[in-house]
Formats: sequence, structure tokens, C-alpha cells
Amino acid sequence: MYSVNSLHSNFEKGDVYLSDSISNLLGIILKFPMPWILTGAGISTESGIPDFRSPGTGLWEKVDPMVYSSVEGLLRDPKAFFSYGRDNIVNVLQAQPNTGHVVLGNLQQLGMIGPIVTQNIDDLHRRGGSDHFYEVHGHFRSASCMNCSNQLPMDELINKLDQGEIPPLCWDCGGILKPDVVLFGDMMPSDYQEASLLANTCQTVPKLMIVIGSSLTVSPVNYLPLEFNRIVIINNTPTETDYRAELVIREQIGPVMGKLWEEILDLNEGQPPDPLPPGFNFGIMVAYLDNEVRFLQNQKFRPSVSLDSLSKHFGVVQSDIKTARSIIAQSPLPPRQPLERAILDFYLQEINRMEYEIDSLLSFMGIPFQDEQSRLPKLISDYYNESLRALTTYTRQENVLPEIAEKMAVRAAGNYDFWSSAHLILGLAPPAKEELEKLKKIVSDRGVKADLQL
Ligand SMILES: [Zn+2]
Repeated sequence: MYSVNSLHSNFEKGDVYLSDSISNLLGIILKFPMPWILTGAGISTESGIPDFRSPGTGLWEKVDPMVYSSVEGLLRDPKAFFSYGRDNIVNVLQAQPNTGHVVLGNLQQLGMIGPIVTQNIDDLHRRGGSDHFYEVHGHFRSASCMNCSNQLPMDELINKLDQGEIPPLCWDCGGILKPDVVLFGDMMPSDYQEASLLANTCQTVPKLMIVIGSSLTVSPVNYLPLEFNRIVIINNTPTETDYRAELVIREQIGPVMGKLWEEILDLNEGQPPDPLPPGFNFGIMVAYLDNEVRFLQNQKFRPSVSLDSLSKHFGVVQSDIKTARSIIAQSPLPPRQPLERAILDFYLQEINRMEYEIDSLLSFMGIPFQDEQSRLPKLISDYYNESLRALTTYTRQENVLPEIAEKMAVRAAGNYDFWSSAHLILGLAPPAKEELEKLKKIVSDRGVKADLQL
């Protein structure tokens, strides 16, 4: 694990510069396809929105959250709640997305990251170009009646406040109108459950969550990273979850994300990349292997399984390595841009590194070679089926965005193509026709508008 406090600090592992961390970060993003992102207040401080808990500048040092940010406070003293709230809402809505939001938006458009879960209510992910996000603490775009759930745009609520209507009241039932954010004492919105459900459908390949600008102290959101096998943390102060992280970057978020984007541009020879093709799935094999190799490394001094099953496990992983290499080397999707070529080269390097690790482990532990079948063909078909489950889960949500459903359907079709061509390369039987029918059925049953070109 690398940790960076500043550009030129000394650590027990020697000098680690930010650029090394950025390369590590990019490598991890490529290795664990479609990582999820969790963002907190720290990503928006560079847009001029104060966070809550930073010593000296945090909002909760200046105002009492129980007066200004709780249901109880609102009901007890609506004047205090809304007079502070009005200025706060206006400030937040005037803020502009910063480099962090924009780079995440770009990465999502390229198909390099999965959904974003945010604790922020500032609407800056949407305005920064992201389309698939979960606002688990609500947002400042609208307000709703606490009694009948009538909804109105936030600027109309501000108008009411400016005309002295405090508390602002529902035009139908006279209930209090409350911004659509989660206050202390509120239930979590459907976004939270939907994000957890969707994250849970991804089980085939070890999954990664990148936590950005969150101190991970607010429950229940801080439990979400526990559902992921690997974690990266980018935050300028330590968090309680750092010990679990693959990589910790303790820096301002804007510069980190800006440098990450520069690195991606470099890989694409300076040109802004086009989205990766929907079936560009080679990373699932690398992520899977990375986990297997890590397991075997942990057996080096204290094996947790019998020597015989360890020997079988080594045999499988050796066979997986050869299988992954032949699929990547004969890429069923010829790279259309320098970025794709660079990613494939990176995967081949990773596979060579893992092969070397496995060979050294085998000779260190004195384990004989055992010829085994690769598990990758099954992993590839499982991954297609998982993308069908994800599409079904997504389209059952409360707020389904047609363009996200379409993207997920197109990606599932890409996973099917990947399956077909990978099996062709390996000389295995192609998927049965019924497999594709499953996707077509979901698309028509759920009313997804997608040109699948099948
Ligand atoms: Zn009402």
C-alpha cells in the first residue's frame, strides 16, 4: 500500500511521488473494471462548498446541525431553519463543478468507471457530466411537502422564502415544504437501497470502490465500502478505513483527478479518448487473477488448505494465466485508439508479472506442476449473466433513466460478443442461442430502448 502526504515526503517504502500514486490509481481502475465511486464533501470543497467536519472550517463547528439540519430543528424553529437554509441553498446551487467532478464525468462517459454514490446534495456530479449516480443524502434541486409529497423546483421554494413565507407551505394541504435532502431524523431515500442492491448484483469478479473526499464517518453510507473486495481512498485526512485500502492518496482531490486525466490523455497520445467498446472486458480476467494470485501468495508461509488442493489451485491459476494471455493477445476487439492498445499492453504486463509470481511461489513452496482446466471460460459467461441481472435490477428502480438502461443493455450485448469471440479463440463451443434471447427478453419486457445490433 502506498500513501502520499505531500509531493516530496519520505516514507518507510522510500520516496513515493504523487505521479507514482496516480499511475497506481490508473492501473487499479483498469484492473478492476467499472469500479464504483463513493464521494463525500471533500470533493466539493474546491467548488467553495464547506464540508461538515474539517477542524477549523467544517460547517458543524459554526452551526448546530440539530437546529439547522434536523427534522426536529425544522419543526421546533422553522424561522431559524429556513433563514439559514435559504442562504446555504443559494450558495450551494451557485457552486460550479470542479476538476474532480468533471474527470469523474469523463471517466463515466468513457465506460471506465461504474456508478457514483454521493453523500453530497450539491448536484455537481450531474452538472460535471456524470449520468449514473445515487444521491444517498438527497439533493437541492427540489423540495417536497412533508405531508402529501407534492414537489416543487427549488427556485420556487426560494421565491416563497423571499416573499416572507416561513415556513413555506404546500399549496394543496398546507404541510411544510422541505428541501429534498436527508436531515438528521429522516429516512434514507430510495437511492441508498437501490445503490446497495445494484452493487450486490456484481459478484462474479472482485470489485473495487474508490472513496473520494469522504471521511467515512456517516452511517449507513460508511458500510457501503464493506460490500467491495478492494478499496482505494483519496482524501486529504486519514479515515478509519485506510487500513483496508489498496491505495491511499492523501492529497487535494482536484489535482489528483486532474493528473489522472492527464495520464489517460497521454496514453491516448494527447487526444481525448472515445468511449471504450461495450465488450472491452479483458479487465475481468486480470481482476480475477489478481485475487487468485493474492490468495496463493498468502499461502506462502502458512497454508490454509491441504498441499493437494493448493497444488490443484496453482494448476488452475497457471491455466487461467495462459488462457487470459491468448484472449488478450488475439484481442477479439482490435484496438481502435491508442488508449485501448495501451490498456491491452498493460494487461499483458500484469499477466506476465503474475505468471512470474506464481512460478517463484511454486518453486519456493516446492509444489509440483499439475495440469488443470482454466476457470476463465466460465467466468466470462458468468459475467454476461451478471450484466443481465444488473440490467434487471436497475430497471426495477424507482427512478430509471432510459439512457442508463440503454447503456447497460448495450454493455450486456458487448459481454455476449466477448463471450462468443473469447470462446472462438479458445476453440470452445460458442454460447447457445437462448443466451442472447435472455437479453432480448429483458429489453422488451422492461421497455428498454436500445439498438443492440444483434
Ligand atoms: Zn401537501
